[in-house]
Amino acid sequence: MRGIQTSKFLAQIRHAYENSPFYRRKFDEARLKPGDIRSLDDITLLPFTTKDELKDDQAEHPPWGRILAVPTQECLRIHSTSATTGRPVMYLDTPEDWRGFYRSYARGLYGMGIRKSDMVMCAFSYGPWIGFWSGFFAAQELGCLMFPAGGLTTEQRIDALLAYPITVLGCTPSYALYMAEEARKKGIDLAKQSKIRITWHTGEPGASIPATKEKIEQAFGAKCYDLPGLTEIAAWGFSCTAHSGLVHVHEDYCYPEVLELQTDQPVGPGGRGELVFTSLYRKAMPLIRYRTRDVVKVADRACPCGRTLFSVEGGVLGRLDDMKKIRGVIVYPRRIEEIVRTFPEMSEFMALLRREKGLDEILVQIDPYPDIPKDRYPELALRMESELRVGLGIRVGVEIVQPGSLPRWDHKAKRFRDEREEVPF
Ligand SMILES: [Zn+2]
Repeated sequence: MRGIQTSKFLAQIRHAYENSPFYRRKFDEARLKPGDIRSLDDITLLPFTTKDELKDDQAEHPPWGRILAVPTQECLRIHSTSATTGRPVMYLDTPEDWRGFYRSYARGLYGMGIRKSDMVMCAFSYGPWIGFWSGFFAAQELGCLMFPAGGLTTEQRIDALLAYPITVLGCTPSYALYMAEEARKKGIDLAKQSKIRITWHTGEPGASIPATKEKIEQAFGAKCYDLPGLTEIAAWGFSCTAHSGLVHVHEDYCYPEVLELQTDQPVGPGGRGELVFTSLYRKAMPLIRYRTRDVVKVADRACPCGRTLFSVEGGVLGRLDDMKKIRGVIVYPRRIEEIVRTFPEMSEFMALLRREKGLDEILVQIDPYPDIPKDRYPELALRMESELRVGLGIRVGVEIVQPGSLPRWDHKAKRFRDEREEVPF
């Protein structure tokens, strides 16, 4: 592995320097030449790359930016990454780049037990986002029978799950829960009435959150797997059939570093930090030391499956962009989800961050299942408040709202709303 990584890494550094004006400038500013980088240990000499830099580069040098390291006629595909503000970053791939993306993804699907005898539905939207395309190509690469569902409505997708022997479903975790609830409203139990045996999830960390995973598994009567990915890097990880809570990383496609949040120093096994990737296979836009803004914990144990790939504990633990400081305590939205999903009475939730009398408050709204009697609400709210206080280390208000009144999410969920006017961060 070290040998594969080293030769790909050194070739990638030279390629970026020689062909990408964006990287040529970054190397020059750091007073580095490719020859100064002799091994993977020298990676720390190299400057970081951020998403903001990519965004600025494309804004200043439209449409693709000076990052592009091959002529556009060598490129095969365009995908866009969602940006919270402004124009999305467009990401180009050569045929070989694209092959690397979906082949590593296919390895992840194989690790979940998906085989060519499976029939697969990718329930991601058909558009410039990579989710649908990469999942579709990856499962097709395994030889699976593909049911194209990108442009279908939820109703049509549910109907297909009942009418055809579809055994595998790929979608965001929020969409899996949404789909199951929509089916339930029609009196359909997908766990009993569909043939789904495996679901995989990307776009959000839900499938690595134990209570969310369990809920999806119950809804579909299937095993549920996490597949974290980034358009700019790869579908970089996957959980395996050992269900160990570990996520394995395709470190031969993207070289991972996990860096301590304050110091940027590498953390050892058991340490938490920001995940930073250097792409080892993509030539059109070869990202070096790309800051993912995802917080992970380096595994300090082996997976019973026997894989020796670099692994992280529990997938993506939080996004640095989502991290909130509330009365001096760091809170990640994922932690709230981990706690409230353990309550079987809860169907959907929303966390609101407010400032009242100069003090930050979190209010968690709980949308219960309609069969929960109203006279149980006060007791439920009290139990949740107590669990949240213990789990987050701060006081949290809980409000039980009318069943069905909170929004449902058919793509990436926005369950955390910061209503503070000035944010002390
Ligand atoms: Zn494993």
